Amino acid sequence: MRVLVAGGAGFIGSSVVREVLRRGHAVVCLDDFSTGRLSNIEELLDHPDFLLMRRDVRQAPVMDVDVVLHLASPASPVDYERLPLQTLQVNSEGTWRLLEVARAAGATLTYTSTSEIYGDPLVHPQPETYWGNVDPVGPRACYDEAKRFGEALISSMRRVHGVRANIVRLFNTYGPRMRPDDGRAIPELVSAALEGRPLTIHGDGSQTRSFCYVSDLVDGLLGVALDRTADGLILNIGNPHEVTIRELAEEILRISGSSSELQFDPRRPGDPERRKPDITRIQARYGWEPTVDLHIGLERTIDYFRELRAMPVTRVQDHEAVAAAV
Ligand code: NAD
Repeated sequence: MRVLVAGGAGFIGSSVVREVLRRGHAVVCLDDFSTGRLSNIEELLDHPDFLLMRRDVRQAPVMDVDVVLHLASPASPVDYERLPLQTLQVNSEGTWRLLEVARAAGATLTYTSTSEIYGDPLVHPQPETYWGNVDPVGPRACYDEAKRFGEALISSMRRVHGVRANIVRLFNTYGPRMRPDDGRAIPELVSAALEGRPLTIHGDGSQTRSFCYVSDLVDGLLGVALDRTADGLILNIGNPHEVTIRELAEEILRISGSSSELQFDPRRPGDPERRKPDITRIQARYGWEPTVDLHIGLERTIDYFRELRAMPVTRVQDHEAVAAAV
């Protein structure tokens, strides 16, 4: 099969691209490098089945593909607060364009939505049937509402034009190739631990999250995306194992051997209290469930962050210069 991966140079996209190639398919990776990095995919540039297009998804050309996987969007609070209009555009106009590409090619599109569409949930854990509790004008609205629009658009395009499309709602994911400066809990805490700075916890640390290791997530995602019989599915993908942010920070300190301290700052507005996916649907259809436990996943992630820190600055700058020229 030929698979268009929009956002393939990002954290999740770069693992998706590798796994799609490993399974013997060809990849067209479309990315504008707004939050992704060339270094995430650089080693694939000479692969005979890998093609990179540096472009905004809104300008995606019609092409002969079997599967469209739409991962293009700023995804961390730091990124979508910096790029609020682009976040709204890529999930609305960008999703629209990719649906047209899928329609023209007779391909199936899988859209990566998010647990953020559930907002600060009043139902726990969150099943796909829950409509959410979202502030439409709050600090996260550009992301939450953009993704909700993307879901509505997909539902309408299926009804009006019969485009084959699925929605997967990803919950917090972590692992190698996250950017240390992307502002999400794990990169923030790991970077602080490795640099010997205090680990900042917003609130008292009793708020919970469930973190899915990236290889587990990619398995679940490709189960749906590469299934040519799948159409109209709406599935949560995430790890239901819940930890408090305080437990997470303490585990990171233990694994990294850091002697940093915990520092408690005021809670951020719009920060949800609890998040945990109900994964009954994807388990029933594909038998998928996460297999990498938090301890192992954190060890691998901390190793990656250590390697990144050991990389000479000039090499990192080279990647950025090449990305700008592609
Ligand atoms: P990321 O920022 O690392 O990757 C997004 C990629 O999309 C980047 O390479 C970026 O350059 C590219 N991109 C952004 N706008 C673009 C545009 N207009 N045209 C072309 N490329 C564009 O983020 P990620 O964590 O890998 O997330 C991937 C997808 O998964 C996103 O859609 C995100 O909303 C969704 N998601 C991620 C998580 C998570 O925990 N990481 C959770 C829920 C949903």
